[in-house]
Amino acid sequence: MLKGHFLLTSGLHSPVYWEKFRIIENPAAAVPLCRMIADHFKGRGIELVVGPTTGGIILAFEVARQMGLPAAFAEKVPSGEREFRRGFTIRPGQKILVVDDILTTGKSIREVFEAVRKHRGDIVGVGVMVDRSEVPLDFGAQLYSCLRAATPAYQPEACPLCRSGLPLTKPGSS
Ligand SMILES: [Zn+2]
Repeated sequence: MLKGHFLLTSGLHSPVYWEKFRIIENPAAAVPLCRMIADHFKGRGIELVVGPTTGGIILAFEVARQMGLPAAFAEKVPSGEREFRRGFTIRPGQKILVVDDILTTGKSIREVFEAVRKHRGDIVGVGVMVDRSEVPLDFGAQLYSCLRAATPAYQPEACPLCRSGLPLTKPGSS
């Protein structure tokens, strides 16, 4: 968890940034978190674990491995939506668990939902490592987080850190 003034993937500004790849790069840390998610959703009849690129690929794989299930991922396409490419198949009614690393606004997860719904898959739940959303989000499916850490995030025009003149950092890859 880094402190400063960060531009999040969601476009919001925040004094806190979770550098998720310090966890994901370390199997000794990431595997037990995937175990928490896998254990939580055990016995729900889940048939496929999916996530959004990039962290969600790794988490979906490990959660699926622990549950003895296949994994898939939804990637960005030029239209800005997410799609299941690479020959991934989702059957109508197939029971699906969506996983991701850090939950802030839920944008990536909603994009995965859209991609699943194009195939008429049945989303059973959402599992994330850290839920940092300020106000709890409602996906219409059960949400489980390994850690709930509500953290402030601001629209750029309302950001008190901008007003105080603190330089903005853009972490991550994009
Ligand atoms: Zn700001």
